[in-house]
This record gives sequence, C-alpha cells and structure tokens, in this order.
Amino acid sequence: MHNDQVNTELSLFCPRKSCPGYQSADNKITRDGVYTTKSDPEPRQMFYCHKGEHRFSETGYSDLFGKHGSFREYVQAAKLAAHGLSAEPIADVLERDIRTVETWLKAIGKKGQQFHLFVCLAIKINIIFLQMDELWSYIINKKSQLWVFIALESETKFQICFELGSRTVYTAKRLVKTLKKLGNWNCGHILKVTTDKLAAYKNALEKYMKDIPYVYLQIVKRRIKRRLVTVKKVFVKGTAKDFPGKSQNTSFIERLNLTLRQHVSYLQRKTLGYCKCKLNFSIIMWLNLFNYNYIQFHKSLRIKINDDDEKFIKKYEHNTPAMKIGLTNSQLTWKYLITVPIPRE
Ligand SMILES: [Zn+2]
Repeated sequence: MHNDQVNTELSLFCPRKSCPGYQSADNKITRDGVYTTKSDPEPRQMFYCHKGEHRFSETGYSDLFGKHGSFREYVQAAKLAAHGLSAEPIADVLERDIRTVETWLKAIGKKGQQFHLFVCLAIKINIIFLQMDELWSYIINKKSQLWVFIALESETKFQICFELGSRTVYTAKRLVKTLKKLGNWNCGHILKVTTDKLAAYKNALEKYMKDIPYVYLQIVKRRIKRRLVTVKKVFVKGTAKDFPGKSQNTSFIERLNLTLRQHVSYLQRKTLGYCKCKLNFSIIMWLNLFNYNYIQFHKSLRIKINDDDEKFIKKYEHNTPAMKIGLTNSQLTWKYLITVPIPRE
C-alpha cells in the first residue's frame, strides 16, 4: 500500500463528488482489481465504494481522471516541466495537443499543492533555521513584475512555501502567515531567521511571530555593477552569538534560487515564456516544489555510511529534504503523487 511512504495515516476515501459517501470517513473502500485503458497499458488499481456502491480508479484521486493520457505520459510531462520546459516543447516531445498537456500539468501541480499542505499541516514541520528571499520574474510584459517569495528550512533544505506577488510587505506577510501554520512551534528551540535587507520581512515577522522566540539577522549586500562589493550583517533581533558556525548567511536560499531559475521556465531570464497567467506560474512552482522536496535527493543531505573503498558497497545514504525533515520515509514518485488519497478542502 502506498500509504506507508508518508509519516502520517492516509486512509482511502471516495473521491467522486456526486457520491453520498464523498470523502466521508464513515465509508468502506476496498480494492477491486485492476484495469487497463486504450491509452494506457499500465494497469490501474480499482477500488469499490461501499456507500455509493460503485467502482473508481486510483486516478480518481487527482484531476487526471478521464484525461486520456497514460501514466507514462503524465510522469514524462511532470518531469519535463520540472526540468524547466514549458508546455509547448513538452507537447511537441510527447506529440500531444498543448491544451492537453496544460490540463495534465495543472492537475499534477494542484495535487502537489494539496499534498504538501496536507502533510505539513498533519505532521507540522520543525523549522529550526528559516531563510527567506525573493526573486523577480516577468508577467504579461517586461514592465509589470511579479515576485516570488520563498521560505526555506535551511538545516534540511526543505522548501516550506512560496508566494507570488508584488515586492511588498503584503506578499511577505502572506509567506510568514503560511509558514507559521505549517510549523511546529512547541519544540523548545529559538528560531533562527536570515533574510536580505527587505524591510517587509521584519514587518511580517513582527506581526505573525510575536509569540515565538526568534533571532533575526539581515544580510545586507551592496552590489556595484553586479559585482559583490560589501556584506553587512545587521542583527535585528539577537546577537552574533545566536548565529554560530556557518549560519550567518543566506547562501542556502541563494543556491535554491539558482536551482529554481534553471528549473522553472517562467524564471529563466532570457526566455520568451513570460508567464501570461499567475495561475500557470503557481502550478509550475508547486510542481517544482514537489519535485525538489519529495523526489530529488539533495547532495548535501547524504550521509556517509561506509568508508571502505571497495566496489559494490553502498557508501552513502541518500535523503530528500522531506525525508530529512521527517515527513516521508523514502523518495516519492510522480505516480505516487497522482494516486495518493488526499482529501480536498
Ligand atoms: Zn462513492
């Protein structure tokens, strides 16, 4: 059963909106064979809903139900999108209509969002060292900018959440409000925060984190002609002692920003794929967040388990950020995301 890959109880439910047993906990769902479709030779698990007395497919747990693609195509589309390709080249590679590919990406991105928020809220993540930063992007045309605000747990490299909006305190507040909801704040430590000099974060932290003990360091970088000239550290709350070792920086999130620039087509500077619609952008960001947190092993999170130089002996234990932060037991897959039972709001 796929449920044991996530460190919380996920039970099956009926995903059919018209059913009297829709998402009801008071229902019995049992496995009921497999089937293959014309478009997909890969067998799909079927379930039986006892309250509504009907069968449904495991693809019923996402908007991909009835979308006439194969699992293989859904996974390929998601992978290509997570590599920074926009819908157009993906449609070309898969020899599919662009609108069909857009529907698939929308369904997978939405499921990624649902999944992430559900497991974080259910388990509550330990946020030890928070780094926040913002990246600009284009929207509609070069004149109106859209910013992406990102929150990262830097000990585990886990991307907590993001917000799209203007470069104002309003967007920063939404970001901090969301991460406050997802965090476990009863673990007795003092939260470390680093950001750049944008005043919006100070405001947002003061509003939403006033009941949480935290220390806050601003890294002020002054650049002249794109070359880094000076770095000034401003301890807004706390002192240098509160940021031991290598923690007096924003380098982890800057590394993540670079990764995102490579992997999100809307963030590539010289691309023509300016995002025409904030919703599409958000979908690709969610797709990317799922890939980054739950699928990809992070190099800095690997643990050496064997010093021997012998061949064929496993040297490292690999981790995804989600494994490191304690949400999952193993690397997840796109197929898992598509079929995992996550209730809708
Ligand atoms: Zn039902």
